[in-house]
Amino acid sequence: MSQYDFDLFVIGAGSGGVRAARMSATMGARVGIAEDWNLGGTCVNVGCVPKKLFVYASHFREEFHEAAGFGWSVGDSQFDWKTLIANKNTEISRLNGVYERLLDGAGVELFRARASIVDPHTVDVGGKQVTAERILIATGGWPNMDDIPGKEHITTSNEVFFLEDLPKRAIVVGGGYIAVEFAGILNGLGVETVQAYRGSLFLRGFDDDVRPFLRDEMIKKGVDLRFNTTITSIEKTESGLKVALNDGGVIETDLVLYAIGRSPKTANLGLEEVGVELSGKGAIKVNEDFQTSVPSIYALGDVIDRVALTPVAIAEGMVFSHNTYKGESRKMDYRDIPTAVFSQPSIGTVGLTEAQAREEYGEVDIYRSEFRPMKHTLSGGEERTLIKMIVDRASDRVVGFHMVGPDAGEITQGIGVAFKAGATKADFDATIGIHPTSAEEFVTMREPAPQPEAQAAE
Ligand code: FAD
Ligand code: NDP
Repeated sequence: MSQYDFDLFVIGAGSGGVRAARMSATMGARVGIAEDWNLGGTCVNVGCVPKKLFVYASHFREEFHEAAGFGWSVGDSQFDWKTLIANKNTEISRLNGVYERLLDGAGVELFRARASIVDPHTVDVGGKQVTAERILIATGGWPNMDDIPGKEHITTSNEVFFLEDLPKRAIVVGGGYIAVEFAGILNGLGVETVQAYRGSLFLRGFDDDVRPFLRDEMIKKGVDLRFNTTITSIEKTESGLKVALNDGGVIETDLVLYAIGRSPKTANLGLEEVGVELSGKGAIKVNEDFQTSVPSIYALGDVIDRVALTPVAIAEGMVFSHNTYKGESRKMDYRDIPTAVFSQPSIGTVGLTEAQAREEYGEVDIYRSEFRPMKHTLSGGEERTLIKMIVDRASDRVVGFHMVGPDAGEITQGIGVAFKAGATKADFDATIGIHPTSAEEFVTMREPAPQPEAQAAE
């Protein structure tokens, strides 16, 4: 019997913490976990899950409209925000319960309290001290804020899921995942939506064909995109919020939603005191086994600021548990992580952007297809779809896949498997398409796009 209360004590019952706690417990470890909020963390409560429910909600307006081309008369449609919020809350409570039962079923002892580290083997949980052979920090992240006059009027993703009323007008600040997703959600729900991004084109880091393609599609749907735009102040008025912009312009709005990145939640955890090293951005530094500079203390998920996605936090939790409690030597593979942005239309991507592939492989072929999906031949919808594949010419391996269009996430998940299997362009060509689908396009693209040098010479 170990000298400690627990073999493992996990701080934070979000995506990564719950998976590591459950798996370690099923492998025989005596595990405790602390959570000072709702079980399931960001993803379940104020992230992936409610966000996707909102995305579904926001699609109906367009679909009611498009139904007419197929012979349907939908009649007057009304949207009730309070119903959406109430139903969403019910579903999230159900998931909170599922998480509780999963932890309980695995024999993990749950402490519903804030935890902080006292020494390398001791945690303070709501005033009570418990000891553990190992401590795992999985405290996630927190939305970044801007220091401008009127910042108290800013809403972040933490609050937006609980708004009392749907605003009539909104300005979304930022150009990353959350900002484009919420610009699409709000616009789809009928909110007059401005999206303000500080640079010349949003979604930095995504493929350079995807970014302008989404920009154009969002403009078609009615989002007022303002690039090279920042907010200098926010003032409350009788009719809403007066937002001053860097170009001297003023926008009257009802909601200012900031989505300008997230920072690791490491404050007041006792990390500095116990000697856990942090990066400049406040992320916990870990080695390949998720071990910090203090050997008995580990960390994973958003708090280590590698790839802030739920399936990544879960996979890190799996690696931690298998290596620690089954004596395996798994390594987390961060290459070719498929990801989707639930913008409207959505983005799916896996592997390298064209620019990265040219840098890494030199000679690459680009297969690109842009088309109007079949549904819109009758719906009257103007939305277009983009599919792009990047192939390393020397090995014929597909090294980048990008899509903008309906169900991009669903499609890209399958492509992600092909990537892991090292699929070549010849493998894609040898695959029979499913007709009629949009996805068949990527097994039927035969002609590479002209090389940039050839295009320049034209
Ligand atoms: P979290 O899930 O944040 O869990 C950390 C937990 O620790 C929290 O429950 C917190 O309350 C608790 N905690 C913190 N400090 C303490 C303490 N001192 N004591 C006790 N408990 C503590 N990812 C996707 O893959 N797909 C998506 O579609 C997606 N959409 C997103 C949408 C939004 C709006 C946001 C904000 C994020 C989204 N993400 C998405 C990212 C995803 O939510 C995170 O990557 C994931 O939740 C990280 O898991 P984690 O375990 O590291 O942290
Ligand atoms: P991102 O890092 O994706 O984007 C942050 C955006 O804010 C960038 O456009 C950035 O611009 C901009 N920005 C940064 N600082 C400032 C500033 N001071 N003023 C104005 N703009 C600024 O962060 P998000 O908050 O959107 O999301 C956090 C993470 O959560 C994501 O990176 C992703 O990992 C995860 N997530 C995943 C989702 C999914 O899987 N579908 C959905 C939502 C979130 P610049 O590019 O110029 O630096």
